[in-house]
Amino acid sequence: MLNERMVSLGTQRSVIRELFEFGKTRAAEIGAENVFDFSIGNPSVPSPDCVNETAIRLIQETDPVVLHGYTSAQGDAVVRKQIADSLNHRFLTNYRPENLYMTVGAAASLCCCLNGICNPGDEVIVFAPYFPEYRVFIEGAHAVMKLIPADTEAFQIDFDALDKALSEKTKAVIVNSPNNPSGAVYSEATVKKMSDMLNEASEKFGHPIYLLADEPYREIVFKGVTVPFLPKYYKNTLVCYSWSKSLSLPGERMGYVLVPDDVAESELVYAAVAGAGRSLGYVNAPSLFQRVCAACADETADIAVYETNKDLLVSSLRDMGYHVVEPQGTFYMFPRTFGTDDIAFCEKAKEFNLLIVPGTGFGCPGHTRISYCVPTERAKRSLDAFEKLSKCYK
Ligand code: PLP
Repeated sequence: MLNERMVSLGTQRSVIRELFEFGKTRAAEIGAENVFDFSIGNPSVPSPDCVNETAIRLIQETDPVVLHGYTSAQGDAVVRKQIADSLNHRFLTNYRPENLYMTVGAAASLCCCLNGICNPGDEVIVFAPYFPEYRVFIEGAHAVMKLIPADTEAFQIDFDALDKALSEKTKAVIVNSPNNPSGAVYSEATVKKMSDMLNEASEKFGHPIYLLADEPYREIVFKGVTVPFLPKYYKNTLVCYSWSKSLSLPGERMGYVLVPDDVAESELVYAAVAGAGRSLGYVNAPSLFQRVCAACADETADIAVYETNKDLLVSSLRDMGYHVVEPQGTFYMFPRTFGTDDIAFCEKAKEFNLLIVPGTGFGCPGHTRISYCVPTERAKRSLDAFEKLSKCYK
């Protein structure tokens, strides 16, 4: 008898992957240039030069036995020092290599944290709209996901709902700002209020409630937007970072968990994160790309096209009558659908070769996610399809 949960995870494709496959089939039929594929969040801009230059230099100059060998389980010590230095000068902090645990991307960072801190039956709070894999990760750690409905006016936090959801079973809260799929960034006021509530609840229930800050989009923000650095507001914050989006390196699988000294029993928490990494069989994050990412830790890919596309799509879609909350970062937007049936709406969109994802999977029906990490020329040509789609509902 196999593990039924794993069989089902391995056989059911996600809605996003399903659309992506449909897009490939359609591209073979009518030409890739005629398919407006806004389904998947694969960065469309190249990595900064620093990435290839460093990789080439390391390959040419480093002893291959070292470069391609195992590193310490928690990551190479020099790498962790470089990353701590980068964080310290950007956020005026005082982190040490011992605060960092290198991982294979934010997904692994989250799994290491969840498996490290949760006992069976613990509850983990998630805010809609949310990255659908959270449920997989939380249930994989034998914990229970508690979903807070979305604040669809601004995609901040519904604090009444948070208040009701907090209980003695709450072990952690996951936040993702800048957010996939809404593109929202939590304001300082939101962060402060949430921190106050989590401090009160930790006190009331007699144990720390950990804040897992899922931050693959930290640097992907538009003009004038700042992302509050959560460990400065809430001491029991574990940062789950990745370079998948900021350096356009999703296939290289590189990230880290930051466990600041301020976290209650931080050394034990760090040990639990490392123990979870060991138990999940990660061994160590890829050796070459640990070094590449550390050397490029202060850099970000040129994200100008995301902002250009955002401006173009927000204003054009609004002119057509779509309701869109303007994203402040990422390369996603999450407009309302015409009619409440987002699944039917996204099916209809396919008739115009427009591939957009229903909000239902993100815990927020009546919306659709548009991943606009595409060439601007394609975003422009897609407008006709968005217009035709809107006319079906008028
Ligand atoms: N968290 C969010 C919100 C994401 O959107 C993604 C990827 O799209 C991840 C985590 C996983 O990122 P990584 O590729 O670094 O594992």
